[in-house]
Amino acid sequence: MTEAVPELELIRHRDVFWRGQSPFLAGALVLFALVALCIPGAVAHPLFLTGVAVTVVSTVLVFLVPWNALPVEAVVIIPLLDIVAVAILRESLYETLPSAGFLIIFPVVWLSYRFPFGAILLSVTGALLVTALPILVGRPAPSTGREWVELFLLPALVSIVAVMVFGAAQLLRATRAQADRVLQEAVQAEILARTVADSVDASIVHFRPDGTVGLRNHAANEQAILAGYDQSMHAATAAYDVDRRTPIPTERQSLHRALNGEEFRGDLFWIGVPGEQRAIAANSSRVQTADGDFLGTVLVGHDVTDLANAVAVREEFLVAVSHELRTPLTSIIGYLDILADTHDLEAIGMSREVSTIQRNADQLHAIISDLLTANANEIRVRPGPVDVANIVRECADTVLPRATALGIEVTVDAPHRFDVEIDASRIGQVIDNLLSNGLKYTPAGGRVALSLETGAESGTEAGGREFSVVVSDTGIGISREDQRQLFDRFFRAQEVRDRATQGLGLGLSIVRTIVDAHGGRIEVASRLGHGSRFAIVLPVRQPRTR
Ligand code: ADP
Repeated sequence: MTEAVPELELIRHRDVFWRGQSPFLAGALVLFALVALCIPGAVAHPLFLTGVAVTVVSTVLVFLVPWNALPVEAVVIIPLLDIVAVAILRESLYETLPSAGFLIIFPVVWLSYRFPFGAILLSVTGALLVTALPILVGRPAPSTGREWVELFLLPALVSIVAVMVFGAAQLLRATRAQADRVLQEAVQAEILARTVADSVDASIVHFRPDGTVGLRNHAANEQAILAGYDQSMHAATAAYDVDRRTPIPTERQSLHRALNGEEFRGDLFWIGVPGEQRAIAANSSRVQTADGDFLGTVLVGHDVTDLANAVAVREEFLVAVSHELRTPLTSIIGYLDILADTHDLEAIGMSREVSTIQRNADQLHAIISDLLTANANEIRVRPGPVDVANIVRECADTVLPRATALGIEVTVDAPHRFDVEIDASRIGQVIDNLLSNGLKYTPAGGRVALSLETGAESGTEAGGREFSVVVSDTGIGISREDQRQLFDRFFRAQEVRDRATQGLGLGLSIVRTIVDAHGGRIEVASRLGHGSRFAIVLPVRQPRTR
């Protein structure tokens, strides 16, 4: 037995007994009981008693031998003793019950399952001992075919069983080793994931499909404490909207939404009591295997307090400055009007100068209005019955002189009349903005088309009727990436900034706020270098007011 024994657990008494000796002992006890009952005469046979004694000795040795102090291979002595017991028992029952030799199957299985390859040879030798012992103790050598079969059948069957059990054991061990390796790799991967998760500033939580938490890093624990997270309710008691005051209802909280398997990006909210509040931008992603099995959601929360505070300071500054500028500007515009009304500017040769001042003052006023509108938390709309077809035509008429000067063709397509309930001046502002962008971002020779589509039954969830105001141009177009930020305040595409085209990047954010307030939506289709199409889709009835 030079090969290393693969299973080291055998050195424990309990294991040696339960995994090795107990099946044989059970088989032997059944045999003893049956013999005592059915062949009582055989019990007193000295060889039978010797077989019983050897069985007892091997079983007692299981518990007496200090296996830990011996080489692990030493355990082999027990199955070998069992084989000797079987050989003796079979000899004692040679005339009455020769099949008792099949008891050898238990030590053979033990040997071939738990020990190295050499144990197979021991098993076969043991089986030969069992069948040949009668000859060794003086019985006549086999002479008939049946006797020869009796001599070799058991060793042959034992060889087959031993080889099969050995093969199965090898396979099992290889599988187990592989499973151990995979498990070890999984444990290492988890340690790595944990370490990475704990070393980033963002909070990371993995929710399993059943809602339990799979992984949660340090930052997530801190944010949970700050947000007053109530585990039993799956809700935060101190989560506020962007105004930092309005508590967010549980079902709108990002944690709750992530738990429900929802995916989202950039959900902005504040957590914590006033004075200690932090701004969090949260993303939620569903985790799926390559086969599409759902493994839950991962919620990541970035602390964007500094950024949010900087934005707030910028907005407060812009609002304050805009207000300060508006008052004197209103006064300048007023006095310019008085000047124009009370003096014949043509006669005194100041007409051009004054109208230039007037134009620039108006432009400045428009910019200040945009700044104030864009920074207002909400825009109030006052819907009333209006002919939107007329508004569309008026807006087109207003830009016509500018378009002509720029060498851009403007076309209008609107029905004769279309009455809806909207805030006429705000929707006029939206159309002006889109037309103005069309002209700004379309080179000379291009075309800007304005149309009113009084659509079909469609779109809205309620299935109500909608209409669209569409402005398309043949201008510079907008890249797919920029389209995502188009409605953000102060966003301007790189090409536009490079061309030094005038603008603050506020128009579209105002457009969106107004359209939102009407319960509508904006659809954008554009390709860089191939023009753009902006469609304002509004419900025909029941305009929402905010
Ligand atoms: P502004 O025009 O003052 O820059 P807007 O909010 O109206 O601000 O538009 C934001 C940005 O969107 C623009 O700077 C420009 O990059 C892009 N954009 C808007 N409309 C168009 C258009 N019709 N064609 C190409 N780019 C456009």
